[in-house]
Amino acid sequence: MYFNLEEMDKIKICLVVAASVVVLYLAYLVIPRFLRCICLGIARFNKIYYGYSAITYLDDERLSLVSKRRLEMVDKKTMVLDMDETLITSVIQKRNSQLIKLPDTPYDYKFLMPAFDSMVYIYKRPHVDYFLDCVSKWYDLVIYTASTDDYADPILDFLDRGKGILKKRMFRKDCIDFLGMRAKDVSLASPDLANVFLLDNSNVECSFNLGNAIHISSYEIGKRDQALINILPFLDSLRFTRDVRSVLRRCTRFDCMTTNLCKMVKGAKLP
Ligand SMILES: [Mg+2]
Repeated sequence: MYFNLEEMDKIKICLVVAASVVVLYLAYLVIPRFLRCICLGIARFNKIYYGYSAITYLDDERLSLVSKRRLEMVDKKTMVLDMDETLITSVIQKRNSQLIKLPDTPYDYKFLMPAFDSMVYIYKRPHVDYFLDCVSKWYDLVIYTASTDDYADPILDFLDRGKGILKKRMFRKDCIDFLGMRAKDVSLASPDLANVFLLDNSNVECSFNLGNAIHISSYEIGKRDQALINILPFLDSLRFTRDVRSVLRRCTRFDCMTTNLCKMVKGAKLP
């Protein structure tokens, strides 16, 4: 079988066109993934460099003698911590579904929730490990989340890192139904209101616990965030008080919420 020169040229052109189509198709498949890998690499570097860079907070050995004496005179307090948007933020994605696109920020942990056939991707708030290490030395920690235990327990185990600092946990079943809302009551975590307070990103939950709550901004995935590290000096100083309400009560919110919630909790005293 012989081809003349004109036919040979046509075949060459066809081959070049076919090869070009194949190369373009491969580039269409590969280049977006390659760019995403580069973006994730940059994001991971940023997260490590800016989010988890070494920060040193002086330990209690460096306290003055007066401060040490003062600590002996007051009771150790209980710090009640919210979880979602305070310590972490999560994205829940149905398995085999691409409906919810994951953020460009690399996730820190993932686990499967069989009950919902969904993967849960966890994004730690910057400095959360260091924050928990510090406050666990100052306070008894209690996690109080409006989420269910099958969702929250794996996350809290991950945050705990085997240190046993997040043993005490309260979940959705420990919240109080208040006009359709899931209200947290810190007196359920510790009945002595002079020595317990809540750290929560929800203004409503803080309003339920007037005088025993500190509001913190919500963590948004990928945002440079210093809130946990910035609040450490305040939390450090609060443990020296005889009654946390002497400081926290000075910040007024919707008083009626706390009053009504206290009425609903059997045995709870008005602050
Ligand atoms: Mg929250």
